[in-house]
Amino acid sequence: MKVLVINAGSSSVKYQLIQTDDESVVAKGGIERIGIPGSNLSQTVGGKKYEIAKYLPDHNAAFELMLDCLTSPDFGGAVKDISEIEAIGHRVLHTGTDFHGSVEVDAEVERLLRENIHLGPLHMPANIAGIDACIKALPGVPNVAVFDTAFHTTMPDKASMYAIPYEDYEKFKIKKYGFHGTSHKYVSGCAIDYLSSKGLPWGKIVTCHLGNGSSITAVKDGKSVDTSMGMTPLEGVPMGTRSGDIDASVVEMLCSWKDMTPSEVVTYLNKQCGFLGVSGVSSDSRNVLEEAEKGNYRARLAMDMFTYRVKKYIGSYAAAMGGLDCIVMTGGIGENSGPLRKGILDGLEFLGVKLDEKVNAEVRQPKGIFEIQTSDSRVRILVIPTNEELVIARETRDVVNAMKR
Ligand code: ADP
Repeated sequence: MKVLVINAGSSSVKYQLIQTDDESVVAKGGIERIGIPGSNLSQTVGGKKYEIAKYLPDHNAAFELMLDCLTSPDFGGAVKDISEIEAIGHRVLHTGTDFHGSVEVDAEVERLLRENIHLGPLHMPANIAGIDACIKALPGVPNVAVFDTAFHTTMPDKASMYAIPYEDYEKFKIKKYGFHGTSHKYVSGCAIDYLSSKGLPWGKIVTCHLGNGSSITAVKDGKSVDTSMGMTPLEGVPMGTRSGDIDASVVEMLCSWKDMTPSEVVTYLNKQCGFLGVSGVSSDSRNVLEEAEKGNYRARLAMDMFTYRVKKYIGSYAAAMGGLDCIVMTGGIGENSGPLRKGILDGLEFLGVKLDEKVNAEVRQPKGIFEIQTSDSRVRILVIPTNEELVIARETRDVVNAMKR
């Protein structure tokens, strides 16, 4: 089945056309600056890159151009006819409390998605605009919503609830939802297949998705039982520009001391903190590490805060699961940064974690699964490249096939 995977942002869309039979990527592309002068599309088919600059006033115009480019022989001719696209899978931010897995979008699902816009005011409107544009551009082709939070709906209440009055949870659905669900699902699934094929234990895994945004998940018997991001992606470890965990009273103090509104403080905590705010250098860990190595104190502090807090999450999740069989590293940092992986894993020997420093330093841009522990490490440490688009394509295929039955 050819599935078009869509990740729609407010001014950008990323897409992949995936043949689920052999899980190959037929075409992959991105559209930028929708509604902004300078909009453009780039698409790769068969290793060749094609680009076009054209003003795109809205998502409808963007999707029309994308479909033209997917069929055009001048753009690689990914499909001969648009009817070859059998289903569309959309990355959607938030399940709210309405969904527990992927669903085909109908009028009722769309109504519930709209009701949940307040849970992700930056992403949900764009996700819905992407779905609407596809319904218009490809009438009759099923659209499936694959949620970023769905993998975490298995968390027990004791892990997902905040200790606020219960009636406020009931009224406003305030709780930890967690994010990066498709990534945690994908890499934990790969780790389970890999470990079980070798007869190794796989019931207690901590997956670390470390990128611009980072989250850590405790995966027990294949299910998410705790995760570091919260009601929004702000909670958890420090990230490129996000503070991660912080005493909520600071919000009120900042409002008063910096004369900010609560919503300005939330933007500040999301956009001006983390690596960027602490180091004053950059939100990109590569630049911060480079400065740290030159002796820049604030850059070193930003990196040390990151590795320290990821380490604490791993330790606390080992405690939550009553043990640890495997740690998985993924995302831009997890897959590529030997120094940050080392900073995180050093000192976890008491849990049975022993890093092979030489192998660790060498693993970058892995094409498959790499083990980076020593031969006498009780815990396996796996570097696994994530593939969120593939999870979305698989889920979309499964939902569409289930509907046919
Ligand atoms: P996003 O969360 O936006 O998808 P990524 O997963 O691409 O982001 O992660 C971005 C982070 O990964 C940045 O901090 C960047 O420095 C780091 N990173 C990406 N590639 C490399 C690399 N080759 N070596 C070291 N760090 C890298």
